[in-house]
Amino acid sequence: MSRFWSAVTHGLTPYVPGEQPKIDNLVKLNTNEHPYGPSPRVIEAIQAAASDALRLYPDPNADRLKLALAARHGVRPDQVFVGNGSDEVLAHAFLGLLKHELPLWMPDISYSFYPVYCGLYEIAHRIIPLTEDFTLRVEDYLPQGERRAGAIIFPNPNAPTGRLLPLEAVERIVAGNPEAVVLVDEAYVDFGGDSAIPLVDRYPNLLVVHTFSKSRSLAGLRVGFAIGHADLIAGLERVKNSFNSYPLDRLAIAGAVASVEDEAYFQQSCRKVIASREALSTQMTELGFDVLPSAANFIFARHPSRDGAELAAALRQRAIIVRHFKAARIDQFLRITVGTDEQCAALVTALRKILHA
Ligand code: PMP
Repeated sequence: MSRFWSAVTHGLTPYVPGEQPKIDNLVKLNTNEHPYGPSPRVIEAIQAAASDALRLYPDPNADRLKLALAARHGVRPDQVFVGNGSDEVLAHAFLGLLKHELPLWMPDISYSFYPVYCGLYEIAHRIIPLTEDFTLRVEDYLPQGERRAGAIIFPNPNAPTGRLLPLEAVERIVAGNPEAVVLVDEAYVDFGGDSAIPLVDRYPNLLVVHTFSKSRSLAGLRVGFAIGHADLIAGLERVKNSFNSYPLDRLAIAGAVASVEDEAYFQQSCRKVIASREALSTQMTELGFDVLPSAANFIFARHPSRDGAELAAALRQRAIIVRHFKAARIDQFLRITVGTDEQCAALVTALRKILHA
């Protein structure tokens, strides 16, 4: 280790992003991107924004996007925060809203960036196991005598399991912890869940985070947002303006606004992924896999008699990449992004061959 490394950087355990392979012709089912492209109106808007105006800084507040999102979700613009991907929105939330003298509560199986932010910002946290069937038990997230949460975060639908917590259950957690910020990370909610956004006006402690990377086919544009009480949003703005006051560039703002304005395309492309997910789940079940019910754009499945890591390696040999986590309780599972119909067919054919070899 170089003597110039500080103790802080040395102590960090960074997030390891899912692989982004440099070779073409792979069936890439490992990082939950949308299998189809964004609305043509998004491409047109970005092309129009790629002009001489790029010499100017973008709007630091991305007001056009906040207005569009506020109208889409039935809130006021001062209840909307936007950032460079939901990872950045989450980063600001961890520092500005979730850091507390009491520990932050989160599930043991969830988005693996959460513990990374806890490490970066030195946030005490308590990891709560999901149940045997990988569901989140509401009672575990309610104050227990002296034991209270400083804040709570969970993904809904969960990543990587895909399991959905019904909205009534989310509300019980939010209502049961009025002193704690509850952050619901809804990166995948458009694929079959009920968003908690309609609850934000009733609960000033609720923050809901969304991304354009999944249901809006815009992982490459890096746009995410949060909706909550104006005071929570003001807290996020303070952190953002202490870090990077121009998180969204002109192209991202233009493309994201166009995406929000094309509701019909959005609805239709979500429906397509949901239909493909159901078909893929059925086919995987027929191959003998245990497939968890999914409300996301991926499925989480294990084979009772095959090792998860070996299956992932065998698929890779056939140029299909899926996600395998070497983590306790889930190391027999594969997390498989729902692809195009052709990609799903290639996956099922490859699995059939591997299982019958
Ligand atoms: N939350 C969850 C649960 C995710 O799976 C992801 C994607 N890896 C993100 C947030 C971050 O997405 P992005 O930064 O692309 O908006």
